[in-house]
Amino acid sequence: MIRLERVEDCCGCSACANVCGHGAITMVVDAEGFSYPKIDESLCTDCGLCARVCPIIARKSMDLSAKTYKSLYAGRLKDEAALRRSASGGAFWALASAVIADGGVVFGAVYDDDMRVVHRSADTLEGCRAFQGSKYSQSDTYQAYREARDMVRSGRKVLFTGTPCQIDGLLRFLIKKYDNLLTMDVVCHAVPSPQIFSDYISLVNRRLKGRLTDINMRDKSTRGWSHAFTYRYDLADGRSLVDQDKTVDWGRLFFSKLIDRPSCHECKYTNLNRASDITVADFWDDDNMRPDLRSPLGTSLLMANTDAGERMLRDVADTITMSAITEREALQPCLQRPTAADSRRRQFWGDYHAHGFGYVYRRYFDDTNYQKFKNMIKKILKTIGVWHPKE
Ligand SMILES: Cc1cc2nc3c(=O)[nH]c(=O)nc-3n(C[C@H](O)[C@H](O)[C@H](O)COP(=O)(O)OP(=O)(O)OC[C@H]3O[C@@H](n4cnc5c(N)ncnc54)[C@H](O)[C@@H]3O)c2cc1C
Ligand code: SF4
Ligand code: SF4
Ligand code: SF4
Repeated sequence: MIRLERVEDCCGCSACANVCGHGAITMVVDAEGFSYPKIDESLCTDCGLCARVCPIIARKSMDLSAKTYKSLYAGRLKDEAALRRSASGGAFWALASAVIADGGVVFGAVYDDDMRVVHRSADTLEGCRAFQGSKYSQSDTYQAYREARDMVRSGRKVLFTGTPCQIDGLLRFLIKKYDNLLTMDVVCHAVPSPQIFSDYISLVNRRLKGRLTDINMRDKSTRGWSHAFTYRYDLADGRSLVDQDKTVDWGRLFFSKLIDRPSCHECKYTNLNRASDITVADFWDDDNMRPDLRSPLGTSLLMANTDAGERMLRDVADTITMSAITEREALQPCLQRPTAADSRRRQFWGDYHAHGFGYVYRRYFDDTNYQKFKNMIKKILKTIGVWHPKE
């Protein structure tokens, strides 16, 4: 049976909970908002299956320096409307369109009615629209793994997309290889806490005096494709607001390294050893090696890791403009090393649990000069013992 001694050893994929035929494992949310398996030992027969399918345990004994890719490309979707909705160059849409046209089903991350990020399936192109766009919070794959298993067993073509650990978890949970399953992972910086994301959504709802139904954090309508997050907030009352100065910058929280899942700081997928058929990412070309591949609306990196992945990229070649690139041109930080945690991580969570989101937001993320001044005064008052924060 799985015995988790360190939170860093679990990416929360839910493969173990799904594979246990005795219902001995449930996924339980911890104080940071991340899910971990909890085992009911009275139901466990000690068959060892959960440990055998765990992707993190498996990767601990693998040679992760062994490169798996077969070919590398930079690409851009030809359909401009779909490219505008995509986080980068629209690689996902090209793959999803081909699978849907073949009568298949696509799995990806969406916002549910409460703006939580979860994995769902779609068998129409219209349904796949909700998968477009990066959702910067950990997605829940628990139900999707079972549904995907039933679909592949029925012989239907399936495209399952997600973070590298989610794809590896799915493949191990399925145990057997299926020719009708194609997988696509994204190069992954880290996944932030769903709990903090939920606090952030509540804050935005309050500031916008409404209820969010969607956020596009990489909106291209005003500045095109850019490193800086540009937000489009869609609200239940029909408003669609771009870059409102009243709202809150999730990018600052996302890149803070304070709220990521602990396993991300020891990620075993920030390398060229991939579990998926196809890996996609942003092709930023920050070192200006391929200016010919720049696009104001985004360029994707596409990495074919298996024969099936190579075949798929050949199949979509008429919908996406692709150019071969070198490994040096493809490499980016999250293909080389895990994102390091901020040294204040423990302090941050202590403050969060003691004082709540409003306090940590102001203390760690609101860096206007006025707020910096207020923080300094509070620190002095706290140090001399005349102010005791209650939030
Ligand atoms: C949490 C996260 C971190 C990322 N970090 C990097 C990075 O460091 N470097 C980099 O180059 N690219 C990163 N990406 C990938 C990048 O932003 C694009 O998703 C990718 O280039 C695909 O582009 P596209 O135009 O095909 O995407 P889109 O058409 O926008 O497709 C989005 C795809 O991402 C999946 N997805 C969205 N949100 C999630 C989520 N929360 N969990 C699982 N899957 C999700 C969807 O299921 C879909 O398959 C990250 C994405 C996510 C979600
Ligand atoms: S060892 Fe077997 S029975 Fe026990 S929790 Fe794991 S999968 Fe379930
Ligand atoms: S990484 Fe996945 S399989 Fe391993 S313990 Fe965590 S949830 Fe279970
Ligand atoms: S950084 Fe690694 S461990 Fe974290 S979600 Fe991404 S692939 Fe999984």
